[in-house]
Amino acid sequence: MEILATDSDLVEATFRPNSGTQEVAIPPNSVSWQQSLKLAFRSNQALLAYLGLPAELKLESHGKTAAELDFPVLVPREYAARMIKGDPHDPLLAQVLAGKIELSEASCGMRDPVGDQQAELIPGLLQKYARRALLITSGACAVHCRYCFRRHYPYSSAPTGIQGWQPALDHIRQDRSIDEVILSGGDPLTVTDNVLRQLIDQLNQIDHIRRIRIHTRVPVVIPSRVCDSLLDWVSSSKVAIYFVLHFNHFREIDSSIEIALSRLRQAGATLLNQSVLLRGVNDSFEALRDLFLRLIDLHVLPYYLHQLDQVEGALHFQVSDARAMELIDCLRADLPGFAVPKLVREIAGESSKTPIVR
Ligand SMILES: *Cc1c(COP(=O)(O)O)cnc(C)c1O
Ligand code: SF4
Repeated sequence: MEILATDSDLVEATFRPNSGTQEVAIPPNSVSWQQSLKLAFRSNQALLAYLGLPAELKLESHGKTAAELDFPVLVPREYAARMIKGDPHDPLLAQVLAGKIELSEASCGMRDPVGDQQAELIPGLLQKYARRALLITSGACAVHCRYCFRRHYPYSSAPTGIQGWQPALDHIRQDRSIDEVILSGGDPLTVTDNVLRQLIDQLNQIDHIRRIRIHTRVPVVIPSRVCDSLLDWVSSSKVAIYFVLHFNHFREIDSSIEIALSRLRQAGATLLNQSVLLRGVNDSFEALRDLFLRLIDLHVLPYYLHQLDQVEGALHFQVSDARAMELIDCLRADLPGFAVPKLVREIAGESSKTPIVR
């Protein structure tokens, strides 16, 4: 996976982990989302210092741990600001802090656990399921989640930009069985609105496309990404736009998130959420209950609760199926039916996500 900011000099200039000065918590509101990415924490060391936590780290080179060298740390300040200072077990921190355990034997998994490479129609365009084609719109993300199932996906080979996507768009134009295009990645909202608008326009011109889905975690970590120029292309689309957001914990939701979600909704988007069930993050009844209640109160429907994909370096987040089903049973007994997501796992070669049921 790539780090988004290519301007490494600017990154160095704005972020000096060894300078000893107190870091600014959140960039002022005037800061653009691109600037937020440039200001993001890019090492365990800097993130732990900001949180007032001891850096019990074995640094390998350039002040980085071995796990970070394998999959770089990337945490926007807006997200770090929602963590509790001084709490080493903070559920937001646990999702993004690189750990030695990732490299240990207990975490040996597959590099492509969900069969993405065998589902590739042409570079950057995947199809696993009827009707739906998935465009790898960007290789970059605004946050690096340690459990990510695509942490080893060879994104750099996926074409980018309006020109790069033309073969994928041609394929979609020619295959009338495709009525939905999913923009995914990486994260499609790391692409500029100017480019996204052109992509949405082109998809709108294909008469058999009825839905566009945008799978994104950017609004969770940088809510100011839901800016006027984004809302412009959302509201201009004649085909329905669904956002599938990715919140894992209720403490990820604060007033800046409420504003972003309400803006997306007012622009006409339908809002869904998918979460990953993660040990040490959200594997309790209370954590999931509070998350799903917060979401439905903000007009976001909990769509999927994913069992972890068997990706190399993330198996320590795994929760057993027995425990997962027990949690879903407790939620079902307490929450409105539409607040309980489907518990699923992705199995390579299956014709849909696979429900986990008794
Ligand atoms: C998960 C996924 C989808 C979407 O599946 P839904 O069950 O419709 O949400 C589509 N394409 C690919 C390649 C996927 O991995
Ligand atoms: S889970 Fe999503 S946002 Fe997080 S690193 Fe993976 S693709 Fe990026």
